[in-house]
Amino acid sequence: MAYASFKDFCVAANLCTADQFDDWRMGYTQNGSAEDGSAEDGNKIKNSVGSLFELVREKSEKSEKDFLSLIGQAFDWKPVDLSEVKPEPEARLKISSKVASQHKVIPVSMEEGVLMVATSNPFSTDLLNAVRFAAQGPVNFMLAPSEDITKAYEKHYGVGADTIDELAQDQVDEEEDLALMFGDEKEIAEGDQEASIIRFVNQVILQAQKSRATDIHFEPQEDNLQIRHRIDGILHVMPMPPALNRLQAALISRIKVMSGMNIAEKRLPQDGRINIKIKGAEIDIRVSTVPTVYGESVSLRLLTRESVLKGMDTLGMTKEIEEPISNIIRKPHGIVLVTGPTGSGKSTSLYSFLNTINDTDKRIMTVEDPVEYEMAGVNQVAVKNDIGRSFAHILRHFLRQDPDVIMVGEIRDGETAEIAIQAANTGHLVFSTLHTNDAPSAFTRLIDMDCEPFLVADAIEAVMAQRLVRTLCPECRVEQVVSKEYLLSVEFPPTQVPGAKFWHGKGCDACGERGYQGRSGIYELLQNSEAIQAQVINRAPASVIGQLARSEGMKTLREYGWGRALAGVTSIEEVLRVTQITEDAAEPVENF
Ligand SMILES: [Zn+2]
Repeated sequence: MAYASFKDFCVAANLCTADQFDDWRMGYTQNGSAEDGSAEDGNKIKNSVGSLFELVREKSEKSEKDFLSLIGQAFDWKPVDLSEVKPEPEARLKISSKVASQHKVIPVSMEEGVLMVATSNPFSTDLLNAVRFAAQGPVNFMLAPSEDITKAYEKHYGVGADTIDELAQDQVDEEEDLALMFGDEKEIAEGDQEASIIRFVNQVILQAQKSRATDIHFEPQEDNLQIRHRIDGILHVMPMPPALNRLQAALISRIKVMSGMNIAEKRLPQDGRINIKIKGAEIDIRVSTVPTVYGESVSLRLLTRESVLKGMDTLGMTKEIEEPISNIIRKPHGIVLVTGPTGSGKSTSLYSFLNTINDTDKRIMTVEDPVEYEMAGVNQVAVKNDIGRSFAHILRHFLRQDPDVIMVGEIRDGETAEIAIQAANTGHLVFSTLHTNDAPSAFTRLIDMDCEPFLVADAIEAVMAQRLVRTLCPECRVEQVVSKEYLLSVEFPPTQVPGAKFWHGKGCDACGERGYQGRSGIYELLQNSEAIQAQVINRAPASVIGQLARSEGMKTLREYGWGRALAGVTSIEEVLRVTQITEDAAEPVENF
């Protein structure tokens, strides 16, 4: 079906009357844009109606997709599903990220020498001119909704790709024109590049914050610079423009400047911090560099105050854990240990304990490596091993400082363990963490560090093992049919099998197709008892202590996890993933 003009089409399709169309067009013409719906030449018609096109669509009250399919039929443009299509490299090379970003187009393929380009606005003159110029040849359109185009752009060109292309181009120009450049001109060019690098680094941090990433890693490879985000504990490679590696040195220098590091020092690892505000939220970034064979690898850990200093009600604790824990952390003395591998949220729990009991009638002192969060009213000391300021050393001095509550970031050695026990047994409440898989192993770990069994038995008030499970995306969560055989094979309690309902996330836009959004804790709380003390003094293995604790009502991590899966908070797979028993619990130490 062919129409002489967009106007004819609109009238024929009952989108508006001829008079209305003229009125609308008048509005645009008067505003200075070159709209001309009345041209006779078919091509010119297609080219000339830009923003008017969007206005007609709005007035039509049709969804963008429906409207595009109507237009496509009328003018013979095919629809394209960009989530299914990957741009052919030959087509991709024709359209720079700058043109793609500015005109919101995605090159799709080459068909007999014609570049096929996806757009949501096929009537824009500017767009057609820019794409034709870029392609240096014939162009035809395919139609896709604007939201799909934005998504495809981020996927195939990468966040901040236009900035990087611009920079890389500048650099080429600069190299070529170096002979011509002198004096002020050069300074201006460098200033421009610096501004763009700053913009790019900010874009990367902003994007990470938006997708709730906890870490950003800049990893130099042999021929490119890889950027990865950790989101809900899982690493994802960020799509980045290929020209990025040419700016590697400038990018890394910029981050080092931001975090107060020595930019001249490239052979030794360095630590630093960045404090920035994004949309009112204060973000504290801990930065670390390590020299690798292909350049300095830079890791940024993003900590928002809101995310760490949570009240206990946001830790995902059910009443059965929260109630006893609230009592335990208000005891006058004893040790409360939080255990789990790196990244299991131990620090977050300790901070929330301190936050809960922090009051002017308590003197709280912490020794941490490093101090993650400054808390008002709490005396915090950072470990500095290079000058001999170790956990044990500081802890020994704390005892002369009249504290009520002491938080030790982590018990890593016998000496620290011994002083912590001594502190607990002399009337102090001590919070700390240990690297063990489960709660019962905390006793045996301390005894393995050469602590006296009867002192350990006496000092420990409670041990809480924990893990973080990813929580199902509320937007795409659906019920999951699970066979009885499968449940029994993963040691799901047989008595709970009948009628058990589970859920999983299909993946949607809201969760970036991951099926999960955010994380929540699962817990195993062991409360010390006389019977357990007797076993500890007998040097019983952790399995025996565990059985005893379970007979006294302790739920294991996995059992707690099943409860959360049945409640629709997380999936079976996720519970299994985080409760798998790893042989080597003592992995490299970290604070989260
Ligand atoms: Zn989802």
